[in-house]
Amino acid sequence: MGVPRSKIPWCPEIDYDKCDFCMECDKFCPHRVFERRENEERKLVVAHPENCVVFCRACAKTCAPDALSFPDKKEITALIKRLREEGKSGGGDG
Ligand code: SF4
Ligand code: SF4
Repeated sequence: MGVPRSKIPWCPEIDYDKCDFCMECDKFCPHRVFERRENEERKLVVAHPENCVVFCRACAKTCAPDALSFPDKKEITALIKRLREEGKSGGGDG
């Protein structure tokens, strides 16, 4: 996208009031975004948000209790656009 992934805050957020730790989202996602924590109360965490594919929301469909949410797509699109323009004006090699 012409913008470093680390600057794009796109990843799922787990609502721990709803999550029943079925692990369907973790089983589904091939990008190792989630990580299981055997001995903790929160048995699943978003350990590697930067691995999440920007604008992917696929794992949310596997979540029966609807515990996964994502940032607002329009806001992130606007942010990417802004960062890209900043990159252009700062760089000069684009
Ligand atoms: S949104 Fe896509 S890439 Fe991100 S955690 Fe879910 S399935 Fe994985
Ligand atoms: S699919 Fe939903 S309920 Fe299951 S572990 Fe993931 S977030 Fe929790």
